[in-house]
Amino acid sequence: MLDPLPTLQRVFGFPGFRGVQADVVARVLAGERTLAVMPTGAGKSLCYQLPSVMLEGTCVVVSPLIALMHDQLRSAEAVGIRAATLTSVDENRAETIQRFKAGALDLLYVAPERASSGHFRELLGQAKLSLFAIDEAHCVSEWGHDFRPDYRLLEPLMDAFPEVGRLALTATADAHTRADILKQLGIPNDGLIVSGFDRPNIRYSIGAKDNVNRQIADVIARNPGPGIVYAQTRAATEKLAEALGRSGRPTRAYHAGLDAAVRAKNQADFVASEDMVICATVAFGMGIDKPDVRFVAHAGLPKSIEAYYQETGRAGRDGDPAVAHLFWGADDFARARQRIGEVEPERQAGERTRLQALGALVETAGCRRRILLKHFGEDLAEDCGNCDNCLGSPDAIDATETAQKYLSA
Ligand code: ADP
Ligand code: MG
Repeated sequence: MLDPLPTLQRVFGFPGFRGVQADVVARVLAGERTLAVMPTGAGKSLCYQLPSVMLEGTCVVVSPLIALMHDQLRSAEAVGIRAATLTSVDENRAETIQRFKAGALDLLYVAPERASSGHFRELLGQAKLSLFAIDEAHCVSEWGHDFRPDYRLLEPLMDAFPEVGRLALTATADAHTRADILKQLGIPNDGLIVSGFDRPNIRYSIGAKDNVNRQIADVIARNPGPGIVYAQTRAATEKLAEALGRSGRPTRAYHAGLDAAVRAKNQADFVASEDMVICATVAFGMGIDKPDVRFVAHAGLPKSIEAYYQETGRAGRDGDPAVAHLFWGADDFARARQRIGEVEPERQAGERTRLQALGALVETAGCRRRILLKHFGEDLAEDCGNCDNCLGSPDAIDATETAQKYLSA
């Protein structure tokens, strides 16, 4: 088999593989169906981008968000990979289809909705395919936190091309979800590769909401580097951004209700900044590549442990110390229970289990990291020494003078 290392160095400019990337790429090049579970920032994209350059034909990448696809497209093109997206917003669809059929694309990014169209299946039959890459593969599972029914159509589509390899990728699957992804996408059990989930440089701290805006202000006062504050509602992100901005600290809001141009600008400003605070809903973060985020703060309970892990995982990707603060209250749990009451009955048990797991994490007096990692199937031998409980400082955050400065009108 071809050695992928020279291509890694020549095309991507990286000296070597990170973590399990080498194993995943080797399996893909050997045509073995694989599910790679790797934390955010571990470098999942490379696991299909590199083979797409080495293998003959086009790698079809299924990705759930158009914004995500366009980010990926830019980064692939930046290193000279021949890539295109095929989505409803692309104006050059005819040209892309031409290039695809002519074998002039390494990567073709598509949304899962495409999979259901007979048209698309026909199109795939007219090109040479190197690989199916299913990004954010937890979307195929009702156990995952982001079920997308269209992902269920991928397996029949891929079955029409049995000789083409399959690589599913996700950051966020617990054991139950992993088993389900394997089943739903026709990947054998021994095709699972899981990389370490621990992010030792992130200090976890979880406490009760008191005056949450003040608590957040205190976090940002103590952390001068770039940070993300997750708020529960669009209105809350704007209010927080405004309140925190009065101190002179650059702040921006980010949520799906903002004009696309404003959103893109705020995101770009944040990525370029060394001290900006972005107050966002969970719409922010997927596909954002900013290694030096120094803190992530949650003003309220995230949706699940997976979501918490993924959102806090945007801090400290450069390996330098970073902090993750979560402030929660009984009202968050009440809202979550109400939300669960509104989902389809067959999903309620799963959602309740997920909420309980989250409750165990926020309420524990023990090591937070142990509970977090246990959720992803990893056992921590010793207490981590880098969470609020291990450090014996359940972060009693008062309205300090610095915090006052951030909030006084
Ligand atoms: P994920 O999808 O797992 O969250 P990405 O694919 O977006 O992660 O990659 C995260 C970052 O890591 C990107 O900036 C990417 O260029 C970088 N990266 C990936 N593989 C390597 C490697 N082998 N060496 C150095 N940097 C890498
Ligand atoms: Mg990714």
